[in-house]
Amino acid sequence: MEKQILITGGTGYIGSHTAVEFINAGYEVIIIDNLSNSDISVLNGIEKITDIKPIFYKVDVTLKAELRKVFETHPNIQAIVHFAAFKAVGESVEFPLKYYHNNLTGLINILECMEEFKIKNLVFSSSCTIYGQPELLPVTEESPVIKPESPYGNTKKISEEIIQDFLNSTQGFKCISLRYFNPIGAHPSAEIGELPIGVPNNLMPYITQTAYGIREELKVFGSDYNTPDGTPIRDYINVVDLAEAHVAAVNRLLKDKTEDKFEVFNIGTGQGHTVLEVINAFEKNTGVKLKYRITNRRPGDVEKVWADTSKANKILGWKAKKSLAETVKSAWEWEKKYREKTKASI
Ligand code: UDP
Repeated sequence: MEKQILITGGTGYIGSHTAVEFINAGYEVIIIDNLSNSDISVLNGIEKITDIKPIFYKVDVTLKAELRKVFETHPNIQAIVHFAAFKAVGESVEFPLKYYHNNLTGLINILECMEEFKIKNLVFSSSCTIYGQPELLPVTEESPVIKPESPYGNTKKISEEIIQDFLNSTQGFKCISLRYFNPIGAHPSAEIGELPIGVPNNLMPYITQTAYGIREELKVFGSDYNTPDGTPIRDYINVVDLAEAHVAAVNRLLKDKTEDKFEVFNIGTGQGHTVLEVINAFEKNTGVKLKYRITNRRPGDVEKVWADTSKANKILGWKAKKSLAETVKSAWEWEKKYREKTKASI
């Protein structure tokens, strides 16, 4: 029997790349998504890459009755990879209840279904935002978790706590929480990639949209940080590398190799880059000149953070492989292909 997994939020940016890697690894993939921040056409992209169209249900994880039906229809799901959540930091400050409601109700429904349908394995998509500005760099999994500045970030911290309490109250259930650093780039086929609705908040889609002429200029938020060129440092991880970490995590859960019922791993490259370094890498590897301007700091931004990935390297047997150069290029190839496709269809 094929190994079957459920991916919530599977038409989203990270979810879709993860679906591809699971299919490539021989899993049968079931995707649920409410399509609130993604497009159904993503399924065609997944099919183009893998020759397989995943099973798909338009389901909102906050609606328990809808969610239960999926598990009733598919009694052999062995693991859940849970992405479905809102993720816009700024919006979460404006509408905190929307974020707490969606991200926490969704998770609780998933956990309740795991218990009811006896699905023992969960991979949770967490974030390095729960470390805040770490005192020591690179940041290890031992670094203290703080209350993040944004409600979005706080839903990730609270989610990890809810999961741990659930696991402590049950027998045999396990979770691997992957704490992502900054996912960027797109599948090398350029069939799937990051497609923010409206004005992007994140650096990479803002860069590619500016390069394409959709945005007038990129604002670089502050150049007076204590870093070599004054702009903040992040650990930019290729989204395909990141997707592979989920396969490694599910493999570990299914082989019953976990030492603790709740394990956490930092998923990054282990290397930090400043905003100006990313811009330079983009210009150098695409040949496109980017219009940008230094402006004020963005409130809430930390100065520098990058991952110690040795735990994931050693225990998950996973390592980021792709360079910043090929990653920024892949983001550009995706942007161009997507825009040309949508132009053609108008
Ligand atoms: N950034 C920027 N201009 C933008 C978007 C982001 O200068 O239009 C910077 C931001 O200040 C941070 C880095 O790019 O230093 C990464 O920001 P992003 O929002 O992508 O991720 P974050 O690490 O803040 O979650």
